[in-house]
Amino acid sequence: MFNQTKSFVTFAIFLFTLFACGKSPTLDSSRIGSYISTVHRWNITSIPVCWENPDSNFFRQEKAWVRNAIATTFEFYTNIRFVGWNSCAGMEGARIRIDIRDERPHSPAGASFEDNPTMFLNFTFQKFSPACQATPEECIRSYAVHEFGHAVSLLHEQDRPDSTCTNGQVPQQNAATVGAYDPDSVMNYCANNPGRLTPSDVKGLEAIYGTNDPGVTIYEDEGLDDTRWTLPPGIYLGNRGQLNPIGNDNIDSLLVPPGVTARACEHEGSDGRGAGRCQVYSPGVYAHLGAMGDMISFVEVTPAVSVFEHWQFQGRSWNLKRGKIYIFGRDFENDVISSIAVPPGTAARVCRDYGGGIGANCQVLWQGQYEALDAAWNDQISLIEVY
Ligand SMILES: [Zn+2]
Repeated sequence: MFNQTKSFVTFAIFLFTLFACGKSPTLDSSRIGSYISTVHRWNITSIPVCWENPDSNFFRQEKAWVRNAIATTFEFYTNIRFVGWNSCAGMEGARIRIDIRDERPHSPAGASFEDNPTMFLNFTFQKFSPACQATPEECIRSYAVHEFGHAVSLLHEQDRPDSTCTNGQVPQQNAATVGAYDPDSVMNYCANNPGRLTPSDVKGLEAIYGTNDPGVTIYEDEGLDDTRWTLPPGIYLGNRGQLNPIGNDNIDSLLVPPGVTARACEHEGSDGRGAGRCQVYSPGVYAHLGAMGDMISFVEVTPAVSVFEHWQFQGRSWNLKRGKIYIFGRDFENDVISSIAVPPGTAARVCRDYGGGIGANCQVLWQGQYEALDAAWNDQISLIEVY
């Protein structure tokens, strides 16, 4: 369904005439890849977003789907954060201005300083793609991820010179390929992708915006909203100002990327290790903290080798500590690991066989985000030693 209906970069030619001074990027072409615009880059990784339809009750649910879809894709896997999400009235400078209209969703590639809406999303599907009325959430999430991909400079993957997809192919100028063609990219008309970033989509964004530094991002409001602050690994005591600028008893949502784990408590405790009600947060998006909302006075952020049941850090996950050997089938289920995050300062020795408890048939994974283990390793790991 999505193959036929993804939007076009309709403003691209107009924008190229406005910003014709882009520099060619230096890119590592050995990495798996994507297709990126070489102009109109955001020079920040904290990108303002606003709604042209300011009434907060207007499409409240649909807006929440969009916000969540972006949090669980771009903000989970990359350095990019989207901030604001309020009314566009009175906003100046570059930002993503979203207008809701019953037409084909579309967005220009990259930053726009236009004093007009820059992104059009469809929430009703009365005229355009009526089939989406049966599955509005899936459609709204899928289109949002694709259009936000454009907004952060991704072009249609099928437009690459080495593409094997001719569906909606348009030659592009001011464009650079990163790595190899990706038939599954969320930016590819020929992909059956329900709004997920593929590892190569992420690599393309890392080429532009840098890699995701592990750290837990804390937010002042629910839904990853208002002031945000990122905590690298360490211990933070709210009563001593170490959770500022969010402050003590003021955290309402959290984002925990692959490669770290967070433990949050109501009180700092006499030994400064946390006390009262405590909660461990494995990698994920926590838009609502429930009983912990506005209660957190202590946060411990720990690097952890995180292993996941599915590609792209999806499904069940387990955090593995340094200096330990984990035997799958004993400590966890055997042969289920499909992606692994290895944070700085650690390495994971992964083995396909038990080898009498020390492992055999092994390789070492150094720091990195291994979003998709290849066929030789996927669902075959039986032992991991974490250094
Ligand atoms: Zn598109």
